[in-house]
Amino acid sequence: MKALVLDIPRKDWESTQGMSFVDHDPPELRESQDPADASRVIIRPRYTGFCGSDKSIWFRHAFKEPIFDSLAAEQKTRRICGHELLGEIVETGSYAGSHYGYKAGDIVSTESHIFCGKCHQCKIGDAHVCSDHKIIGISTDGCFAELVKLPAKELWKTDTNRIRPEVAAIQEPLGNAVHACSRVDLRGRTLAIFGCGTIGLLSILVSRAMGAACIIGVDPNPKNLELAERLGVDLPIQVSREAIQDTPHSPDLEIVNTIRNHCFGEGVDVAMEMSGSNQALNTAIASTRAGGDIVLFGISEGDYTLSNFQEIIMHGKSMHSVIGREVFQTWYTLSNLLQSKGHDLQDKIYEVILNRGEGTVFPFLEFNRDQFEASIRQHPKVILKY
Ligand SMILES: [Zn+2]
Ligand SMILES: [Zn+2]
Repeated sequence: MKALVLDIPRKDWESTQGMSFVDHDPPELRESQDPADASRVIIRPRYTGFCGSDKSIWFRHAFKEPIFDSLAAEQKTRRICGHELLGEIVETGSYAGSHYGYKAGDIVSTESHIFCGKCHQCKIGDAHVCSDHKIIGISTDGCFAELVKLPAKELWKTDTNRIRPEVAAIQEPLGNAVHACSRVDLRGRTLAIFGCGTIGLLSILVSRAMGAACIIGVDPNPKNLELAERLGVDLPIQVSREAIQDTPHSPDLEIVNTIRNHCFGEGVDVAMEMSGSNQALNTAIASTRAGGDIVLFGISEGDYTLSNFQEIIMHGKSMHSVIGREVFQTWYTLSNLLQSKGHDLQDKIYEVILNRGEGTVFPFLEFNRDQFEASIRQHPKVILKY
């Protein structure tokens, strides 16, 4: 089968880019050799989404250690990438069929964090922070391939009569937005989203559907802000590149004042940091009113500096971190939101974020590296079609 893989030695990480489109042995269910295969299925992908994390692998910005450490443990040299999936089950292990009820022909998406089911967090229903999880396409083989083997317990049945397939393929990143927007109550609240990349844009739609009254989008990139406006942001704010250069950590006071002026002179009820920028984090904190909440999602490697730390405590501001999706509460919520007639989430995702498929949907078997790289640089979300 064809697969899109990372197949470089660890030492070449810094000096290379991209992924390779190669011939690869297909996965098989062999219960006699590996009893765990009884609870797994083989899936033929129909559509897969190219994630921000895949982009970080492509450009070698992150995930070096988990990829190479897991390859070493499996004694393998190439990792099949990809974790945003809509596909059809073609074969089920005996337990996946008898216990989970899956059968060939079922259409499924998947949670991308394979949780252990045994650790403290898994036992108390917090599988999204499992101590021993694997990430599909990073620490175990993923779905940029003609076939993928996955555990039945991770799958999410999807009705493509109700959810259009291109949108169903990106339920996993939509789940990040749903998780972030579920962290605190948004009903009737003012919200500022720092970073209008893929998850920031999805969060505009989700927060609106969950009742946010006023949504402010902050980003240095005018193209991202244009998309944010098309998705219904109330106030777009462009970060000036000079401000980023001058003061690497301290809050951008012009933005803080603009946001305060828009919200009773006090600041937003809730800020979401979705850019990974240290300065954006400090601007987000300073733009939040006393007693408000800051939801943390964006990440960069290394240390961060918090400006005016004592004010966070003196003003009673709360910070909440968001990773992955709550399994499976987030999936139920996102499924309900996608099928709700009130918010046109599917249409807006398809028309604005996926640009109606123009320049964003590529046939997997005709993978063209240069064309694909140009597209992932340009669009918030790119899809592979099988
Ligand atoms: Zn993803
Ligand atoms: Zn666990």
